[in-house]
Amino acid sequence: MFFSPIQYDEPVFRPPAEARSAIIQATVGCSWNKCAFCEMYTSKKFKVRSFEELKPEIETLAKAYYGVKKVFLADGNAFVLSANKLIPLLIEIYNQFGKIQRISSYALPKDILRKSEQELKDLKNLGLKLLYIGIETGDDELLKLIHKGETFNSTLDGVEKAHNAGIDTSIMIINGLGGKEYSEQHALKSAEIINKLNPKFLSTLTLSLPFGLEHFQNKFNGRYIQQTIVELFEELKLFIDHLNVENVIYRSNHISNNLPLQGTLSKDKNQLIHFLDQAIQYTPKDKYPSSPEVL
Ligand code: SF4
Repeated sequence: MFFSPIQYDEPVFRPPAEARSAIIQATVGCSWNKCAFCEMYTSKKFKVRSFEELKPEIETLAKAYYGVKKVFLADGNAFVLSANKLIPLLIEIYNQFGKIQRISSYALPKDILRKSEQELKDLKNLGLKLLYIGIETGDDELLKLIHKGETFNSTLDGVEKAHNAGIDTSIMIINGLGGKEYSEQHALKSAEIINKLNPKFLSTLTLSLPFGLEHFQNKFNGRYIQQTIVELFEELKLFIDHLNVENVIYRSNHISNNLPLQGTLSKDKNQLIHFLDQAIQYTPKDKYPSSPEVL
């Protein structure tokens, strides 16, 4: 909960980079809402909010946040909205806020693939310049076990389609997603897909267990063996070590992470690996992560 001039349908989540953005709740919840690790919107039933409902809120927010440079469309995957629904919204935001640098939202690859190339270009030209996409892993087996509803190829196709339209992406990978059993394939296939995508931004989060290990194990469609913090660092090191990208801004500044890292990849790869080696050396081998309340 935070102070706001409008009444949001709580809880509201946004990426760390959108801390200073005006948030417009274009949808409520997540249209997919099935990922085994995600509890963000399990208390909400997905719904699309109408333009008539949103118009006065945009006006109020534009006045309250005069001069704000960025707007974030919530909730879980507001990009599920069709271009026909998004276009009037983007125009209204532009009219009310005036000069803004960018509008962004969370998206699933399938939300991108459902739109035509021209629609994506139109959305980009109307200010929607960045999509946050939790691809979580590049490993098909693991994508199935967590019920992501996407594959390596659907993710690749969706993100590349956004890039071809000039829309930047911020890609999220979850450290520890498959536990000990799937750790190596998770790290290697995630590096493989990131190498193909070369997104503008990349971040790693760490798997959180707000309802406990057993709750997650029951939702994970396989054998999940929790990793120690050192094992999580080793997985992250393997992932970063296999990255071969250009000018990707990398952050691990989410509340779930055990070590905040940042750099530009692959330029800063050696330095990031050095920090991880130090963390591995000085962290007790038998220590497990404690989970924050939310992912
Ligand atoms: S991770 Fe994203 S797509 Fe999956 S349930 Fe959560 S909000 Fe929805």
